[in-house]
Amino acid sequence: MTTWHQRAADLRLPTRPVLGGRPVEPLTDATFSTVNPRDGSVLTQLPACGADDVDRAVGLARAAFEDGRWRDLAPAERGRILRRFAEVVEAHADELALLETLDTGKPIGDTTAVDAPGAANNLRWYGEAADKVYGEVAPTGPDALATITREPVGVVAAIVPWNYPMIIATWKLGPALAAGNSVIVKPAEQSPLATLRLAELALEAGLPEGVLSVLPGEGATGAALAEHPDVDKITFTGSTATGRKVLAAAAGSNLKGVSLELGGKSPQVVLADAPDLDAAAETIAWGIFYNQGQTCHAGSRLVVDDRVADQVLAKIAEVARELTPGDPLDGDTQLGALVSAEQLSRVTGYLDAAAGQGAEVVLGGGVPDPSPVADGCYLEPTVIDRAPEDAAVVREEIFGPVLVVQRFDGSESEAVRLANATEYGLAGAVWTADHGRAERIAAGIRAGVVYVNCFDVGDLTVPHGGFKASGFGGRDKSLHAIEQYTELKTTWRQR
Ligand code: NAD
Repeated sequence: MTTWHQRAADLRLPTRPVLGGRPVEPLTDATFSTVNPRDGSVLTQLPACGADDVDRAVGLARAAFEDGRWRDLAPAERGRILRRFAEVVEAHADELALLETLDTGKPIGDTTAVDAPGAANNLRWYGEAADKVYGEVAPTGPDALATITREPVGVVAAIVPWNYPMIIATWKLGPALAAGNSVIVKPAEQSPLATLRLAELALEAGLPEGVLSVLPGEGATGAALAEHPDVDKITFTGSTATGRKVLAAAAGSNLKGVSLELGGKSPQVVLADAPDLDAAAETIAWGIFYNQGQTCHAGSRLVVDDRVADQVLAKIAEVARELTPGDPLDGDTQLGALVSAEQLSRVTGYLDAAAGQGAEVVLGGGVPDPSPVADGCYLEPTVIDRAPEDAAVVREEIFGPVLVVQRFDGSESEAVRLANATEYGLAGAVWTADHGRAERIAAGIRAGVVYVNCFDVGDLTVPHGGFKASGFGGRDKSLHAIEQYTELKTTWRQR
């Protein structure tokens, strides 16, 4: 038993909704189980918050917004409390990382190095930004003075997925709170624990009571928020299919604002003159296998010049062979468990169907035997080659550690055509030593971010979001995220 195993056994798990900062008894009797994908055990039962719980949370959020206990604080004061929130998160980083690992199967090395510090960093960055967002003076004629200012939208509901629960929740909490809104978070049913704990810590950090709630529940809880007539804004990250439902619910209720961050099928375009093919291949392997392939902007398609394809694939295979799935609670594990048995069977379903679609599984594809931990949800890193363009494995988001290879004849226009030939447009990359080609291909890829000779690097200074079916209505990250949570107001004074 390592320290992490022992600490996991001793950990207190949140079991109640957090309303306005305090754990409370739910109004609903319905429950759901949150399961540890490491070994399939039930971690705990949580209330599946229903319409009554949603009503109560919205009422609290509305009251907090209307009486101005948060939005009427000076922005510098809101910023100070958010930075304090970041410090409290840092002080509880190991606990939060462990909750996240238990819920999601992510390696503890990742949750301690990336997820928990990332959550603190997101809160701090927006805490620092809170008093640095200026309004505008419109260039009117001399007879008027018109100012354009940003006001908080009011009650924000953030519906988030399970792949980076704390990071995505704080991508939304940071700017929404910095702007003065009240926020209700609906974590994914697979991964509510760390987010519930975050909400308890917010009160400790000085966030006024009532401003932040976290409602555990399944899809119905999210649907109740999306339909609620007194929610002003939904910020949603998840699948494209659910995003469509959220949009329809918003349209059918009070026409609340909606921002959608959805799925992806991001291409890594490798030209024959890529500067260092081995280094590129290593980055490409990590770009799909990190987080067990459950990353919205994962580089899940390799669009590679046929002349170098075998060399690149050989190096990817070398990296993949080193990435054997392991126990998420072991500090050395680099590849953990997929989030659930359901997700594992969804991914293996794609692999089983691949052969029938004319594609070939050339690496991995199997559930490791023996399993790193009995009854866990593990899958070997997998590569599928020579898949025809219309195959489901090429077009659809698999959301597992599966790289799909599409070879092309070296023509630049064909590379761009293939890169864009899915409904998604979240991310892309181009690998070439030729600057002109890099610029042309980067410009040609229709995606929210394009990497040149690198992948999945960046920081909070740049926005995150997609083109096409990968989303619309605003961006997470950067100062642009604040636009999601504010209304523009003009005040015109005639002189
Ligand atoms: P999902 O769409 O199944 O669930 C997302 C959230 O929506 C969960 O909290 C779920 O309970 C809730 N939900 C389900 N039905 C709902 C409904 N009818 N109304 C309102 N809410 C509802 O997605 P998931 O499986 O949790 O996450 C994986 C997906 O998220 C992938 O498609 C991935 O690409 C995407 N994702 C996108 C980004 C991005 O920024 N673009 C980031 C991470 C994940």
